Amino acid sequence: MTLRVGIIGAGPSGMAQLRAFESARQKGAEIPEITCFEKQDDWGGQWNSSWRIGLDAHGEPVHTSMYRHLWSNGPKECLEFSDYSFDEHFGRAISSFPSREVLFDYIKGRVEKSDVRKYVRFNTVARHTTYNEETQEFTLTVEDLKTNLTETHVFDKLVVSTGHFSVPSVPEFTGIKSFPGEVLHAHDFRGAERFYGKKLLMIGSSYSAEDIGMQAHKMGAASITFSYRSTPMGYEWPENCVERPLATHFDGRTAYFSDGTHDDFDAVVLCTGYQHKYPFLPSELSLKSANVLYPANLYKGVVWQQNTNLFYLGAQDQYYTFNMFDAQAWYARDVMTGVIALPSIAEREANIQLWIERLAALPDHNAEADFQTDYLRELIAATDYPPFDLDAVSQLFKDWMHHKETDILGYRDMLHRSVVTGTMAVKHHTRWLNAMDDSMARYLNGPSQEVDTSTADVVDDILAVR
Ligand code: FAD
Ligand code: NAP
Ligand code: MG
Repeated sequence: MTLRVGIIGAGPSGMAQLRAFESARQKGAEIPEITCFEKQDDWGGQWNSSWRIGLDAHGEPVHTSMYRHLWSNGPKECLEFSDYSFDEHFGRAISSFPSREVLFDYIKGRVEKSDVRKYVRFNTVARHTTYNEETQEFTLTVEDLKTNLTETHVFDKLVVSTGHFSVPSVPEFTGIKSFPGEVLHAHDFRGAERFYGKKLLMIGSSYSAEDIGMQAHKMGAASITFSYRSTPMGYEWPENCVERPLATHFDGRTAYFSDGTHDDFDAVVLCTGYQHKYPFLPSELSLKSANVLYPANLYKGVVWQQNTNLFYLGAQDQYYTFNMFDAQAWYARDVMTGVIALPSIAEREANIQLWIERLAALPDHNAEADFQTDYLRELIAATDYPPFDLDAVSQLFKDWMHHKETDILGYRDMLHRSVVTGTMAVKHHTRWLNAMDDSMARYLNGPSQEVDTSTADVVDDILAVR
């Protein structure tokens, strides 16, 4: 009987899984019967943006945590597919840090070229899963959000690719309930325009805090205070920014910090990360982890230890993204189809523990980039995913981190060279700080494009304040 493969989620990871099977098909392999369930009406996951917060039109939690004016926060050269270059997609060199819509177009371009959309059931949400040890089959219950009818599907292999940056982690703070301004989690942040002239408190010290803080600066916030739990970010911030240790409590609009200082704020943005949450899985199949580079219980970061018919993609914290999801999807494909034989559970566990011990000893961010590079190296060596110069990419990550240290508002204006094609990125027509239209048309056609005058007025106001 043909192998039946179920894929939950058609974000970049689920799309990589579809592409991995398509690549095998093109090389003459027989491929399984594939069904992918995606709760949204399009693929692209986080990159498929929404203005909504809270619930979507079907009453499901809005998946995306992205927002207006989001640009890639790492060089595009670090995430380029090795079987589908930016040059191939855009037909010309572009800058190193495209905006969301541009990257969304790129990831769609590769799968649109092949006939894989037919495998995806859109507007269909995974609700419940059981596994029968005897038959070694998963029974997945899904709901068609257009008809509200549930269905069950039986699979031999199940791939979980639902992402882990969507369900907020929300800490409590004494007194925050009576804070008279806006309090929101980064997941619900959709754009910083409304923070013009406001005093902002960002809790957290990672990518969301940094970027939402700088978005607010760009849009003319009066001041931005970053409050860290473990370590300050330590960038050379613009002069209206300051870092403080963790807020201890609130009294009215005043926040008190553990260094004894306090200040008044108009809004608080909780940039406190996300939970791994898989409500459609029984607890024994459900990954429980902090956001780390090597979650326990996943062999090669992909295969569920206690049930090797279950696979997770993209479950790691991410230096690498799209090309890592590819390497994982190619590996998962080969395990599913028996091309790769797995060692014993004890050997797998020993291997997982080696990675976790190495992770615990990493001294700094550069070492983290090397760690994930080595992880990819292993996956790519095991499959026919087209190899690329991983050491060159690791160096790109280090250059990028160095650029951030020297110029937190300017690192996105820097240029990097593709390791896939050798093409050097070209200078973008507008610096990140001055770009006020993040559409793909504007990105590709430049500032000669007609601008909506209502936006232009706002831009003038903002530029005048800065
Ligand atoms: P996701 O993109 O989260 O996709 C998961 C998919 O599963 C979604 O389509 C969702 O609708 C679907 N789904 C969820 N639950 C169900 C269900 N029960 N049933 C059916 N479908 C379901 N990466 C970069 O490389 N560069 C960046 O600049 C960058 N910026 C980011 C900014 C933000 C604010 C965030 C949160 C992440 C960013 N990332 C960035 C990382 C991003 O997570 C990855 O690029 C990528 O989107 C992960 O792909 P994924 O498919 O694993 O998960
Ligand atoms: P994250 O990297 O997981 O960071 C979570 C942060 O929350 C950490 O600083 C953590 O502090 C802090 N935190 C957690 N619990 C806390 C608590 N109880 N009190 C205080 N602080 C707490 O999450 P993220 O920053 O949201 O990033 C998620 C993903 O989105 C990343 O992949 C990132 O690249 C992406 N992203 C990209 C962009 C872009 O510009 N393209 C923008 C935003 C996000 P500790 O260090 O103490 O644990
Ligand atoms: Mg190989």
